[in-house]
Amino acid sequence: MGINVALDGPSGAGKSTIAKMAAAKLGFVYVDTGAMYRTIAYSVIRDGIDPADSEKVKAALSGIKIELKNEGTQQVFLNGENVSDLIRTPEISMGASKVSAVPEVRAFLLDLQKDIAKANDIIMDGRDIGTVVLPDAQVKIFLTASAEERANRRFKELQEKGDPSTYEEVLADINQRDYNDTHREIAPLRQAEDAVLVDSSALTLEETADEIIKVIKEKTGKKKERRSRELMPVRPISKSRHYSRIKLVFYTILRYIVMGLYHLYYNIHYEGVENVPKDGGNVFASNHRSYQDPVFIAIHTRVPLSYMAKEELFEQNVLFKRLIIFFGAFPVTRGKGDTAVIDTSIEKLEMGRNLVIFPEGTRSKDGKVGPGKTGVALIAAVAQTKIVPVGIIFEGRLGFRKKVTVRYGEPVLPAEIGVTGTDPKSLKKLKTKIMEDITNLVEGNVN
Ligand code: C5P
Repeated sequence: MGINVALDGPSGAGKSTIAKMAAAKLGFVYVDTGAMYRTIAYSVIRDGIDPADSEKVKAALSGIKIELKNEGTQQVFLNGENVSDLIRTPEISMGASKVSAVPEVRAFLLDLQKDIAKANDIIMDGRDIGTVVLPDAQVKIFLTASAEERANRRFKELQEKGDPSTYEEVLADINQRDYNDTHREIAPLRQAEDAVLVDSSALTLEETADEIIKVIKEKTGKKKERRSRELMPVRPISKSRHYSRIKLVFYTILRYIVMGLYHLYYNIHYEGVENVPKDGGNVFASNHRSYQDPVFIAIHTRVPLSYMAKEELFEQNVLFKRLIIFFGAFPVTRGKGDTAVIDTSIEKLEMGRNLVIFPEGTRSKDGKVGPGKTGVALIAAVAQTKIVPVGIIFEGRLGFRKKVTVRYGEPVLPAEIGVTGTDPKSLKKLKTKIMEDITNLVEGNVN
């Protein structure tokens, strides 16, 4: 079940406007139950039935089908016809107040209202939401204002629409509907015992909406926080899976060929090679300068490595796709909080591969180390594996005989710096450490 907010109160208290504002701000669906009663009133009045004639209204229900659709705003359909605008007249308001006293009408709408609430995070406004429709709603608010203030607001609204009603008529109308709503036998308007009372008489729309949002946040905030704080479980990788000898021999031969070619083509220097673990299953966290980076790093790792590559690279020609997959690339959807990529990364580490991550996410053109993303810390903290910081340094663009320096720093084990979980504080600590190490290597501040 989603989060249910029940917003009840008398006519003209501003419920629908406020509910719409709050729903938009919180990403909830707004459900206007008054529109459903109005639609029934509209239907019977159009068919020449007196909305106060409960027998005839009851009989008419079998020919009525109501649907709510969210088309930017809530739209209400009567037997497939959009009647959203047609139900907003004083005649229909009064008609709705009358049909809503018919028990069969209320029963007719109850299931529809409950079903909508089940499937979504909603703010539902009406008269009996907190007491009858959603008695278990996490948040119940009773929004009210003095009859005079409500009449004043409704009068202005009607005037803007060109409606000729006078203030006295509007006030009489509100008083009558209040009386009807609070005196009907079934589901009369009343404040639920556990509802928070908000009086909007002296508040502006914005102030009222802020107040409502505050109440909703207070009541649901803890729940939401708990949800978002669900931590990723720590799953230390088992390094039991080794590469077959034959694969390693093949990889080593390939590595030496590439090493030779790279030394011929570039003026390449390696520092800190003694820091590279001899086994696999380690994370290499490097600054990102070029598409050659994974190869620069791989030249001194004895087991094959994997690295994330942006999805688009896999959409190029088949040969290129096969080539990058062969050299350990796997796709990541950037900027979408791709959680599957974390699982894939852990799988690669478990297969015994080394994993190269560029925490900055994108290549740096000027060689400066940018801010890092938390993903690298999350993967390392979940896998509880060693992180080897790497600095790749060259000036300008890569080219023939270009001087390139690759520095491997001392590996860090998350537990060694006190990171044994995936809570935000630990991840921040680990990320900061990794980024500091990379920056020091790039800037040459190595002991
Ligand atoms: O909220 P709105 O003014 O659009 O509602 C029209 C009428 O429908 C109200 O005057 C009230 O009598 C009735 N109603 C109800 N129960 C609800 C919502 C509206 O009885 N949950």
